Amino acid sequence: MEPGKKIIIIGGGVGGLVTGIYARKAGFRSVIYEKNPASGGECTGWDRNGYHIDGCIHWLAGTGEGRDLNRVWKETGALENIDIYQPESLVTVFNESDSLSVWRDRDKLRRDLLAVAPEDEEEIEEMLQAVAIFQLFEPSVDKPRDTMSLMEKLRFLYRNRKVMRLIGKYSRITVSEYLSRFKNSLIRAAFNNIVPGEYSTHNLFFTLASFTGNNAGIPKGGSKAFSERLEKKYRELGGEIIFNTEVKEIIIDSNTATGILTREGSQFFGDYIVTACDTRLVFEKLLRGKFFEEEFLKRYEDSEAYPLQTSVYAAFGVDADLTAFPGNSVFKTAPVIFEDRVIDTLSMKHFCHEPSFSPEGKSLIAVYFNANYDWWKDLNKNPRLYRAEKARLAVNISTQLQKRFPEIMNKTSVLDVATPLTYERYCGAYRGSWLSFGNTPLSEPLRHDGRVKGVKNLYMTGQWLMPPGGLPAAAITGRWTIERIKNR
Ligand SMILES: Cc1cc2nc3c(=O)[nH]c(=O)nc-3n(C[C@H](O)[C@H](O)[C@H](O)COP(=O)(O)OP(=O)(O)OC[C@H]3O[C@@H](n4cnc5c(N)ncnc54)[C@H](O)[C@@H]3O)c2cc1C
Repeated sequence: MEPGKKIIIIGGGVGGLVTGIYARKAGFRSVIYEKNPASGGECTGWDRNGYHIDGCIHWLAGTGEGRDLNRVWKETGALENIDIYQPESLVTVFNESDSLSVWRDRDKLRRDLLAVAPEDEEEIEEMLQAVAIFQLFEPSVDKPRDTMSLMEKLRFLYRNRKVMRLIGKYSRITVSEYLSRFKNSLIRAAFNNIVPGEYSTHNLFFTLASFTGNNAGIPKGGSKAFSERLEKKYRELGGEIIFNTEVKEIIIDSNTATGILTREGSQFFGDYIVTACDTRLVFEKLLRGKFFEEEFLKRYEDSEAYPLQTSVYAAFGVDADLTAFPGNSVFKTAPVIFEDRVIDTLSMKHFCHEPSFSPEGKSLIAVYFNANYDWWKDLNKNPRLYRAEKARLAVNISTQLQKRFPEIMNKTSVLDVATPLTYERYCGAYRGSWLSFGNTPLSEPLRHDGRVKGVKNLYMTGQWLMPPGGLPAAAITGRWTIERIKNR
């Protein structure tokens, strides 16, 4: 360990902030360079017309007291003195005559699943048993495998042996294939809206296990406040963060990373450089294409095995209190043209659990669609058409929302529409992806030590190092990066 040495971190998202916090705790000097005027990266929120649009956390794994990941969130200040909102249901799906909620309460979940689909009893029981086993899983938050001793590795594997066995079994089938085993269409629809259908099934079980294990709540204050707490902790520990500074290049001298060059042309030097942004950007731009590794290249180029997720996110303010409705719901609508296809289902979330997100008596609604990056990129060749399409889509969704909820008829205003290009522009995320490489039956686990081969003193961190990504991946890789630097 070399306390007093300086670490330069590129990117002030959750990955960068957590890296900085552990860097300071280990006694390193730490400076984060962030291209935006605020920290948080994809974990953010923004204000529009008296509403606060929350841009990220649907659920946060690691909110359960006593869990290893919870300790990381506490150590970094992310959950310090903060209440956790525990939604009763993960999602509620409506068809023409019926509805089904994925309840947090396991007994209630079993009861309702069996009530709507007695014909699927065997599958339901098997799923709930698998979910109970996934609840036992503890990730290795303190140490990456490459710094563990043989005994530590064996202990980790032994501790998680039951889950590992199930991962082996369920990683070979997609969520869509798995759900086709259920005869009941409402069950298929309910579980189809939790993780992408092309992902391996163990991803669905991890999510259900966290949620029903009270380990995937929503920190009060939402995504922006979450990132702000991390930034506050980082600054309290003496970390420095420089905003509005885009890093253009990593300076390499005799195969050693020594500093950064900013877009404005300034150079800053440090003992270690840590990238906490999209790895494609790192290899292609910051390292000028010189060190691209097959491990990453193959993932970026094979979207079937390693799908990326990007969205269109539309936010609406409504002059009504929707507290009585499920927070997350999926329902049928009249056909709506979305991109180059017709859709007839909306996935909607309201934020009534956060009264400060909307003026008194009003509610904030967000609607999400899985989006096609290329379609929006192509449309934006003509910015006028791009803007017009966002406006058209917003009006059409608003119309469908008002049909679904008569109480908001003529009381709905469009607040904002974000597309894959928004995420790309704001975070530099590859193809606007808000998660990293998806796990599918065709994908291989990414086992990478975060070092760029051929360059000394350069480390990569953030969600791209731990597929399929998410806030826990950003935080754990941040902690691991400092462990690696300490143990070099
Ligand atoms: C709509 C949405 C919903 C989500 N829901 C959830 C959820 O419910 N639960 C969950 O766990 N996760 C969720 N996520 C994912 C989560 O937000 C991300 O996994 C996480 O924030 C990634 O953190 P990161 O630090 O690795 O990367 P990022 O957040 O992408 O941070 C990278 C940072 O680097 C900066 N940067 C990029 N290039 C440069 C440069 N050249 N110079 C300087 N700075 C640079 C960017 O501006 C950014 O601040 C969601 C994301 C979105 C968008």
